[in-house]
Amino acid sequence: MLNFTNKVAVVTGGASGIGRATVKTLASLEANVVIADIDEKNAGTLIDECADLPGKVVFCSTDILHEEQIANMISHALSSFGRIDILHNNAGVPRSRAPDCEITDMTVEWWHRTIDAHLTSAMLGCKYALPHMITNGGGVIVNTSSSAAADATVDLPAYSSAKAGLHQLTREVAATYGRDNVRCNAVVPGLVLTERGRATLPAEQIKLFAAQTPLPYLAEAQDIANVVVFLASDASRMINGECLRAEGGMMIKLPYWE
Ligand code: NAD
Repeated sequence: MLNFTNKVAVVTGGASGIGRATVKTLASLEANVVIADIDEKNAGTLIDECADLPGKVVFCSTDILHEEQIANMISHALSSFGRIDILHNNAGVPRSRAPDCEITDMTVEWWHRTIDAHLTSAMLGCKYALPHMITNGGGVIVNTSSSAAADATVDLPAYSSAKAGLHQLTREVAATYGRDNVRCNAVVPGLVLTERGRATLPAEQIKLFAAQTPLPYLAEAQDIANVVVFLASDASRMINGECLRAEGGMMIKLPYWE
């Protein structure tokens, strides 16, 4: 059930972090994969690392802030591999390009940019992938959300609103295209110790997440990729419209419980 022979996947933000781990895992399970990212250098090293895997991996330079580039990323999958079966809407746009701040300091421009980066891009990915999935007899869409979607954050109102919107988009796509054999789900990580996360997250923040998580470890990128691959596979064929937490039980624990 975890075999992806002859399947074609597009992973946005596939050059680093969660997307990178997803690309590698899918290719190791025989999927052909398109890395859709702005980072050509990291994508290049990933393609080298995947050279001996059974699935083929190619790069499509894609800025998900531009609709025509999202359309092109789907065309790239079709011209490279002839079809698209899996779309992972995952790219994480940094705050320098998708600014966020407290509401009292928010500009409409910043608000729109963050919503575009984390919600509109996923809708556009679906818009361009769905017709081909439907023609092919089905497909799977997996969105990367965040635990910020479920709980209020202090200075990330646009990001958390976008991710909450992503949950509703997930359900809308699941309900509308289920009859076309297209499933749509989201993975909902808490803090993930990606390479970038390890380099940039303040130690205090990592400590807070560790204290709030019942498990004795925090997530690595591979842990989230494993959930994405499960949701993309036939092993999850009855899961549709679900926003699946992968944060080690962080949300079920009361903060004063040690
Ligand atoms: P990362 O920074 O490790 O990787 C993000 C990738 O997206 C990079 O390869 C980057 O080049 C690419 N990217 C950035 N802007 C882009 C754009 N405009 N167009 C195309 N690609 C672009 O990030 P990550 O931590 O793996 O994040 C992936 C997803 O996981 C994001 O949606 C993020 O919101 C979500 N998430 C991450 C965490 C965490 O703690 N790392 C927690 C919850 C949710």
